Amino acid sequence: MKKLIRNFLLFLAIFFIIAAIFSAFSSNSVNSETVGIETLVSGINQANVSEIIVSGDKITATLKDGKQEVTRKEPTESLTTLLSNLGVDPAKLADIKISIKDESGWDYFLVNILPFLLPLIIIGAFFFFMMRGVQGSNSRAMSFGQSTAKDFKPDDKNRTTFKDVAGAKEAKEELKEIVEFLRFPKKFHELGAKIPRGVLLLGSPGTGKTLLARSVAGEAQVPFFHMSGSEFVEMFVGVGASRVRSLFEKAKKSAPCIVFIDEIDAVGRRRGSGLGGSHDEREQTLNQILVEMDGFEATQNIIVIAATNRPDVLDPALLRPGRFDRRVMIDLPDLKDREDILLVHARKKPLGANVELKKIAERTSGFSGADLANILNEAAILAARQGKKEIVNEDLFEAIEKVMIGPERKSRIITDKEKKITAYHEAGHALVAHFLPDADPVHKISIISRGSAGGYTLKAPLEDRHMHAKSEFISEIAVLLAGHTVEKEIFSEVTTGATSDLRRATSLARSLVTDYGMSDHLGPRTYGQKEEMIFLGREIHEQRDYSEKVAEKIDEEISGFIKQGFDKAEKIIRDKKQELEAIVAALLEKETLEKDEFDKIVGPKPANV
Ligand code: ADP
Ligand code: MG
Ligand code: ZN
Repeated sequence: MKKLIRNFLLFLAIFFIIAAIFSAFSSNSVNSETVGIETLVSGINQANVSEIIVSGDKITATLKDGKQEVTRKEPTESLTTLLSNLGVDPAKLADIKISIKDESGWDYFLVNILPFLLPLIIIGAFFFFMMRGVQGSNSRAMSFGQSTAKDFKPDDKNRTTFKDVAGAKEAKEELKEIVEFLRFPKKFHELGAKIPRGVLLLGSPGTGKTLLARSVAGEAQVPFFHMSGSEFVEMFVGVGASRVRSLFEKAKKSAPCIVFIDEIDAVGRRRGSGLGGSHDEREQTLNQILVEMDGFEATQNIIVIAATNRPDVLDPALLRPGRFDRRVMIDLPDLKDREDILLVHARKKPLGANVELKKIAERTSGFSGADLANILNEAAILAARQGKKEIVNEDLFEAIEKVMIGPERKSRIITDKEKKITAYHEAGHALVAHFLPDADPVHKISIISRGSAGGYTLKAPLEDRHMHAKSEFISEIAVLLAGHTVEKEIFSEVTTGATSDLRRATSLARSLVTDYGMSDHLGPRTYGQKEEMIFLGREIHEQRDYSEKVAEKIDEEISGFIKQGFDKAEKIIRDKKQELEAIVAALLEKETLEKDEFDKIVGPKPANV
C-alpha cells in the first residue's frame, strides 16, 4: 500500500516536471504576442513587419520595432497563398524576409507528439511498476521450489552441543553414535558397516527434539540443514517435492552434514488415509523424501534426522530399514532431569539465595523441557517487573502456577457467598487428597481465581510414576469429586464450579473401563477403536467395536466407578468435618495456604500401606 502511494507521488512529480518543461518551451520568446492573422495582414500592409518565420503552423512575425507577433495557420496551407487571399499587397510582401524553418525536433516533439505520448508514457510506466510488483511475487513463486533450509556454520563458537541438553541420557547416548559416524566415517566404512541414513526422534512437544538434532550437528561440527515438514507443503502442488530435491542437493554439496526435517508428520502421514484434497501434495513430497533417501550413497555421509510427536500416524514406508530405521525416544523429563534442565536454563539468570531448583522440579511433574524453560523465563519477567535484581523462590512458584492454570485474577469481583463456596470446594479437594493415602499430597490451596478457575488446589506426586493401579484412579476420582461433594454436604446444593471436575472424573472413569480393562464385569479388553481422521482439521473419530448391549454395560460401569469415588470422598468429608472447617476458616482469612500451613491444620498424611 505504501509502495503504491509512493509510486503515485513519483508519477505526479514526473508529470509536473514535464508540464513545466513543456510550458517553458512553448512560450519561448521574450516579448512575443499572440495575435490574429488579420493583425499580421494589416501589419504587413502598413510595412511594420521586417521578417516572417514560418515553422509548421506557426508564423512568427518580427516587427520593425523588434516586437514579435505569433499567429497560426493551417499547417498545409502555404503562407503566401494565405496572405494573398487575405489581401496582402504583394509589393509589401516582397520587402519582408520570409524564411520557412523546419520545425525544430524538440518543438515538433513537444507540440505534436508529446500530448499523445504523455498519457501513453504514464500508463506504460504505471503498468511497468505494477508488473514489477507482480514480478516480485512471481519470482518468489519461482523460488518456491528452492528449499529455504537454514544452514549453519559448523565452527560457530555458540553452537549447540550436548551440554545444552539436560537429561535425556538414553537419547544422547544413541545420538553419540551418530556423531561418531559423522566424525570418523572411515572407521565404519573400513569394517564394511553401513552408516544409518535416518534417525527418527520421537517425543512429546517441547521435550527437546529440535534441540537434540541441533546439538548432534554441533557435536559433530557439521553443517545442519533445518526444515520443517509444514514448509514443504505450500500453495502449489509440486513445490514440496522440488523443495525436497533442492534441500538434498544443497546437503550433498556440503556433506558430511545433517538434514533435519522437523515435524515430519506434516508430510509423512500414512498415505492414502484421510479425506480432503491437500494430501496429493503431501504424498508427492513424501515420495520425494523417500526417493532422495534411497538415492544418496552410503559413502556420502548425510544423516537425515526427523522429529515427530506422532509416530503412530507415520507412513510405514518411512520406517522401514534403510530409511528412518533408528528411532530415538525422548521421554518427558523425570525429577532429576527437570532439575538439570532448570539448571541449564538458569545459567544466565541471577537466582536468589532461597531458590532450590529441586523444589521447583518437584512441583513440575509432567512438565516438558520447554515448559521448564518457560517457567524460568516467566519468573525472570515477574522479577524484572517488580524491579528486583534477582529471581527469588516466590517468582518461580508464581510462574509455575501461571503456566499451569493461568494468570492470577485478583481483580475479579466475587461476592462473599461465592468466596465461601470456593473455600469449601477447594478445602474439599485438599482434604480428600490428604486423607486418601494413594492420592498425591497437597502443595498449595488457593481461592484466588486464576485463568478460568475460581480457586485451585495443587498436588504433586512424591515421585514420577509410570504405572498406576486401579485404586489410585478411584482415589483420583474421589479427589476430583470432592469439591462437588462438599458443596452438596454443606450447602445442600451444587454450583457450576464443579463442572470441569465432573467432566474429568467421568472421562477418567471411562478410560478405566474402555482403555485400561479395569472393570471386573467387562473383562480385560479395550472398547472402541480410536482412529484419527483428517477432515477439516484434526478430528478423533472413535469407531465402536462393541454392541449396544455392551455400551449399556460400559455406562453402568462408569457410573459404578464414579459412585465408588463419590462414596470415598463423602466418607472423608463426613469424618473430618472439623478439619474441613479449619481449612475453610484459614482460606477465608489468608486466601492461600502453602503446604506447611495446610499440614499444620490436618496433621501428617496417612501412609500408603
Ligand atoms: P521439540 O522440538 O521437542 O518440540 P524443542 O527442541 O523445540 O522441543 O525444545 C524447546 C525448548 O525447550 C528448547 O529450545 C530448550 O530451551 C528447552 N528444552 C527442551 N528440552 C530440553 C532439555 N532436555 N535440556 C535443556 N533445554 C530443553
Ligand atoms: Mg521442535
Ligand atoms: Zn474443583
